[in-house]
Amino acid sequence: MGTSVQQALEQLKLTGVRMTPQRHAILTYLMDSLTHPTADEIYKSLSPNFPSMSVATIYNNLRLFVEAGLVRELTYGDDSSRFDADLTDHYHAICKSCGTIVDFDYPPLTEVERVASRETGFVVEGHRMEIYGLCEKCNKTSIQ
Ligand SMILES: [Zn+2]
Ligand SMILES: [Zn+2]
Repeated sequence: MGTSVQQALEQLKLTGVRMTPQRHAILTYLMDSLTHPTADEIYKSLSPNFPSMSVATIYNNLRLFVEAGLVRELTYGDDSSRFDADLTDHYHAICKSCGTIVDFDYPPLTEVERVASRETGFVVEGHRMEIYGLCEKCNKTSIQ
């Protein structure tokens, strides 16, 4: 796993972002969950403890974290963005039915980047690769 909450807080401080209880809660939630939540999901889970917090607040804070390089925004498909606090190299499997995103490890496809660069003359900066299908849960439901 990547950075700890403590490290993330230090990094935020360096970028001049003031830490508030809400920001702390959002960051902790993201780093503890492996589910790549949407702003909505974070809202549902945190709002009992922060009644004054809105989805917009959460979204703005997520933006801030993305800009500070603490969190990655995943924009797959046309659904709302999901957020990932695990910044290490990994790939995602995405369920076409429920939108769940699951991490999996696979060696970075650097060979593809090399070939692409050679054949196109591009200075390659990166690539995206996602696996699509049905998650275990949705697959079971569809069989019944
Ligand atoms: Zn699913
Ligand atoms: Zn991930």
